[in-house]
Amino acid sequence: MKKIAVLTSGGDAPGMNACLRAVVRGGLYHGLDVYGVVRGYDGLIRGDLYKMKSYSVSNIVGQGGTILKSARSMEFKTKEGRAKAAEQLRALGIEGLVVIGGDGTFTGANLLYNEHGIKVVGAPGTIDNDLFGTDFTIGYDTAVNTALDAIDKIRDTANSHERLFFVEVMGRDSGYIAVQSAIGGGAEKVMVPETKTTIDDVVSSLQKGWDNEKSASIVITAEGDSEGSAMEIAAKVKKHCPDKDIKVTTLGHIQRGGSPSAFDRILASRMGIAAVEALLEDKSNVMVGIVNDKLVYTTLDDAITKEKPLNTDLLKMVEILSI
Ligand code: ATP
Repeated sequence: MKKIAVLTSGGDAPGMNACLRAVVRGGLYHGLDVYGVVRGYDGLIRGDLYKMKSYSVSNIVGQGGTILKSARSMEFKTKEGRAKAAEQLRALGIEGLVVIGGDGTFTGANLLYNEHGIKVVGAPGTIDNDLFGTDFTIGYDTAVNTALDAIDKIRDTANSHERLFFVEVMGRDSGYIAVQSAIGGGAEKVMVPETKTTIDDVVSSLQKGWDNEKSASIVITAEGDSEGSAMEIAAKVKKHCPDKDIKVTTLGHIQRGGSPSAFDRILASRMGIAAVEALLEDKSNVMVGIVNDKLVYTTLDDAITKEKPLNTDLLKMVEILSI
């Protein structure tokens, strides 16, 4: 293998740049030409890629976002779109592709391999931490720390005014960010998509705290919780305790941005180098992961289809710690 390409795709995550840097420098170290694809699969279809040098990735290890830009490509979801993308790679003699993204990105990469034989390796770049085959995904640690920073600030004002706050964090299908920020932020309750928490459960947990002379409380909700958004949940809870001063904060996209934590920079660097080495070892259609601090490769099929269950002991911890 002489030429490889790299792209970032799906929702951006802090540490994607560090991973990109590691792919480029890891590739150059091993004597490869490395092409950067601009705007994910959309750029690949349009042939928007350029040869990267070592200096192309200078000073980005601590930079959030992705210098290659990310995109959600509808065209790549079609057979014709993927054929165009494969043709662009073949025209330049590129034999291997590293994709940095989440499960959607890997679904697309899997199809590119199965339909066109393009050798693909995935690096898990998503704040959701919901991919099977790795203990951590790139960006998750930073996102949790960003959420914690906000929750600490909210607690100050919640305490001063003796308020009940509902804080919504990201996680459409996954409660990883929610449960970690609930433990780290000392929340009274957490609501995640993986388990059903009724409004009665929330009210009864909060009531225990109020009976214990707690004057301020924080409930963390994941955006995909079955009871709805934090705003909707707050409105339902308000009916049970109309006298409470209730406020809602939706953290939103601040969780995607910012300089990656030390953990994410190192994780991303390990994964980027490992992705290049996988291609050199003729591995293909796999995702790089870290399990028990060891590098492992999981088939894209497994990474996409297998569940990574949330550790329910962590939910219990929130309950124990909130008395
Ligand atoms: P995140 O977890 O942060 O949302 P993601 O990689 O799952 O990241 P998606 O928007 O789901 O983000 O997917 C990224 C891109 O991957 C899509 O824009 C699309 O081009 C491609 N993709 C997603 N699903 C498919 C699919 N079923 N078939 C082909 N390509 C797909």
